[in-house]
Amino acid sequence: MNYSDNKYATLFNTQKANQYNIGNTTYTQRIAKLNALKKAVEFTYKDKIRQALFDDFKKPFTETDLTEIYPVIGEIKFAKSHLKSWMKRQIVDTPMSLLGSSSYYIYEPKGVCLLISPWNFPLNLTFGPLVSAIAAGNTVIIKPSEMTPNISKVMAEIVVDLFDENEIALVEGEVEVSQELLKLPFNHIFFTGSPQVGKIVMQAASKHLTSVTLELGGKSPTIIDETANLKAAAKKIAWGKFLNSGQTCIAPDYILVKDAVKDAFVTELREQLKTFYTVDASASDSLSRVVNAKHYERLVAHLEDAKSNNATIEIGGKTTSEDNFIEPTVISNVPESASLLQDEIFGPILPIKTYKTLDEAITYINAKEKPLALYVYSKSKKNINTIIANTRAGSTAINNNVLQYTNHNLPFGGSNNSGIGKAHGVFGFQEFSNMRSVLKQHTIGSIEFLFPPYTNFKQKLVDLTIKWF
Ligand code: NAD
Repeated sequence: MNYSDNKYATLFNTQKANQYNIGNTTYTQRIAKLNALKKAVEFTYKDKIRQALFDDFKKPFTETDLTEIYPVIGEIKFAKSHLKSWMKRQIVDTPMSLLGSSSYYIYEPKGVCLLISPWNFPLNLTFGPLVSAIAAGNTVIIKPSEMTPNISKVMAEIVVDLFDENEIALVEGEVEVSQELLKLPFNHIFFTGSPQVGKIVMQAASKHLTSVTLELGGKSPTIIDETANLKAAAKKIAWGKFLNSGQTCIAPDYILVKDAVKDAFVTELREQLKTFYTVDASASDSLSRVVNAKHYERLVAHLEDAKSNNATIEIGGKTTSEDNFIEPTVISNVPESASLLQDEIFGPILPIKTYKTLDEAITYINAKEKPLALYVYSKSKKNINTIIANTRAGSTAINNNVLQYTNHNLPFGGSNNSGIGKAHGVFGFQEFSNMRSVLKQHTIGSIEFLFPPYTNFKQKLVDLTIKWF
C-alpha cells in the first residue's frame, strides 16, 4: 500500500528507517535518554509545565507537581532501576525432549509506535507511557489532546529539545491529526482516552494488525459498608474525587453506601469538603476548573437532568460558566434513568446510591461495564473478599482510592470496556515490546531420531516421548 498521500507518511517513514538504530541502543544509551527527560520535567521545564496547566484549566501548582510531574519522575526512576534486568535475556528451562538445546526470550522493541494521549493528566499520560516506549527501544510519534493546548506546546518543546524527530516526534492538532496518523501501519498504538474513541482506534489498528494498548475509562464504583470508618472514607473520597476537579479516569464515579450510614457519610463528606476548599470553593486556590465550555455544559446538563428527575443536591451545586467552575457537588436520590448514572461523569459531581444488602450492590455494579477501578471502604474482611471475588475491575483500592495508580509494581489498566493491556513499570515496558522466543541448538537434538521415515521403532520412541517427556 502506498502511504505517500498521507500528511504524516514522511515522518512515519523516517522513524521506520531509524527503528533498528533505536532498537539496538544499549542500556546506557536508554538511561541517558531517560535522564534527559527527567531533567527536563523536574527542572528545566518545571515552571513552564506548571504555568501551562494553570492556563489550561487552572490546575493548582501543587496538584501539578503531585499528579503530573511526580508520576513521570517516578516512572523514570523505576525504569532506571529495573531496565538492566528487563533488557537481559530471560533464560527459561528446556524440556528433556529438547536435549542438546537451550531456550530464552528477549524483549525486542515493537518498532514505530503511536501514542495518543488525553487532556485530563496531559503530561503524566503522555510522558508516562513515553518512558516505557523509550525504555523498550522504540521510536514514537505522539499526538496529545487538542483540549489542553498550552501543555501540548510545552511538551512539543521538550520533545524537540531532547530528541531527533526520527526517534520521537510530537504532532499537535485537532482530532483530524489522530485520524490521519491512525491510517499508518504503526507497530503499536498506545491510546489513553474514552471507550468510544478506543473503539475507533482499535478498528483503525485492525487494518494493519497493529497491536494496541487501550487505557480507557468508565464508571468506577465505590462501596462503603456499615463497618467503614466514615470520617477516613470521606476524607479520602473527597480527595480522590475532587482532585483535578473530578476529571480523573480512576476517580470514584459513584458511591454505593449501606443505607443505614448514608446520612453520617454525607455529613462527614460535607465537613471534609469545607476543610479542603472552604465554604466558597470558587475562591479556593486548590481546585482546578472543568477543562472547557463543552465539558462544562455536558456536566451542567447532567446536573439539570438529575434535578428535573427530583434528585437531592446534598452538597454544592453552584456553577459559573465564565470560568467553567462547578462546585464539588454530591447528589442523592438520582433515578437510574438519569444520565449521571448512565455515562462516565468525569467531573466534580458525585452521585450517592444506597443499598440494603451487599448482594444488591454487587448486582448493580455487575449490570454495568467492567470498571477501570473499584473501591471498597470496609473493616469486614468477609465483605471485602466477597466484593473482590464477585466483581471485575482493572484495579481496586481497599480503604483508599486513586493511590493504586502510583505503585509502579502494580499493573495499571482496565478490562474490556475499561481497557486492554497494562501500563507502568515492567508492564508498560512489556506493552512496548515483543517477547521474542529463541531456541539455540548446541548438539544433535534427540528429536532428530524421530525424523522420517517413520518406522515402528520411531513410533515406539514417540510413544515413550509422549509418556515420559
Ligand atoms: P477522548 O477519547 O475524547 O480523546 C483522547 C485522544 O483521542 C485525544 O488526543 C483526542 O485528540 C483523540 N481523539 C478524539 N476523538 C478522536 C477520533 N474520533 N479519532 C481519533 N482520535 C480521536 O478522551 P479525553 O476526553 O481526552 O479523555 C477522557 C477519557 O479518557 C475518559 O473516558 C477517561 O476515563 C479516559 N482516561 C483513561 C485513562 C486511563 O489511564 N485508563 C486516563 C485518563 C483518561
